[in-house]
Amino acid sequence: MKKPHRDSPGARGDGRAAETAALAEVRAVYAELERRPAERGCVRQTGCCQFRLTGLVPSLTPAEARLLARGWRAAGRTRPPEEPADGACPLFDPLRQGCRVYESRPFGCRTHFCAAAGGPRSRREVLDLIRRLEEASERFLGDREPRPLPAALRRAMEER
Ligand code: SF4
Repeated sequence: MKKPHRDSPGARGDGRAAETAALAEVRAVYAELERRPAERGCVRQTGCCQFRLTGLVPSLTPAEARLLARGWRAAGRTRPPEEPADGACPLFDPLRQGCRVYESRPFGCRTHFCAAAGGPRSRREVLDLIRRLEEASERFLGDREPRPLPAALRRAMEER
């Protein structure tokens, strides 16, 4: 793992400040994404949550994973979610048929829409935002490597 940037909060040994800064940038990126016009949008069909059926698992930067972990813990949860036997996202609630952390869902869930929602946004349209997520992860957390959602979330839960 790379070291945090010399001038970053993480480099000063203040892990909480580094995480706060990383989360602020992730939220800013998600807000910017919302402001960009798109001829498609999530209609909560939840098709993209069925990883085994789609064969696609979103990858998260470490900063996004921290935000996702925070969303998961918000209801007082202290352990990562179980990985379901049907191969769905561990954050998918089969009873309510919805995401348990929708407000904190990662960039991939905000851009890789299922066919019912119009299909994925092109990477070219959002490449600058992907770069910002990577840079925030590197600068504040010293690690920019994207990981599949289940592994990224487990890791973020452990890093608390
Ligand atoms: S994080 Fe939420 S929206 Fe994204 S795949 Fe998992 S359940 Fe679906």
